[in-house]
Amino acid sequence: MGGVAEVKGGLPVRRVIMLGAPGSGKGTQALHLAESLAVPAISTGEMLREAVAAGSELGARVEGVMAAGALVADDLMGEVVASRLERDDVRAGFILDGYPRTTGQAETLDGILARAGVKIERVLLLEVPEAELIRRALGRGRADDREEVIRERLRVYREKTEPLISFYRERGLLATVDGYQPVATVTAALIAALGAD
Ligand code: AMP
Repeated sequence: MGGVAEVKGGLPVRRVIMLGAPGSGKGTQALHLAESLAVPAISTGEMLREAVAAGSELGARVEGVMAAGALVADDLMGEVVASRLERDDVRAGFILDGYPRTTGQAETLDGILARAGVKIERVLLLEVPEAELIRRALGRGRADDREEVIRERLRVYREKTEPLISFYRERGLLATVDGYQPVATVTAALIAALGAD
């Protein structure tokens, strides 16, 4: 998989957004892609869960919102992501998992990246049937994985996050991959999608 950095006419494609419903496997795939591309996977959900576990001020602010399956406010997420993207380890690229989740966040992200003189190079959408999404999420056993919360997160995804699909398709950045396949097959398809112009 060392050839990934060579795709797209010799230019590396390493500023990537993973898009997909809760349970689509984007967290798992973000980690695989990050390893292949030698860039960090940045999961905002994971960052927030760590903040809650650490009992930080951020954690206290987001805990109830997360438990309800709702979205943390765009402004607060913008601060979290801006400070993460200031770190040195993202210079060569990053895989964003769970951000942006609203068109407002996508615009904020554009601004953050523009200040650094870079852009998103590809948006990978994982498609998985709804019944499978619920089955997977129920199997994860996370605090926000009770069935009613899962259904709420799916509803929020459809309402707030799905508009990002056309947002990025219109910019020519979207690649769609069937996420209802074995993990390694999906990873291979994602890597191929990073090479497809
Ligand atoms: P995830 O691990 O991506 O499923 O995120 C878990 C929870 O963290 C979500 O249900 C939201 O409550 C919160 N969260 C994570 N990322 C974001 C984001 N970009 N915007 C708003 N809330 C977020």
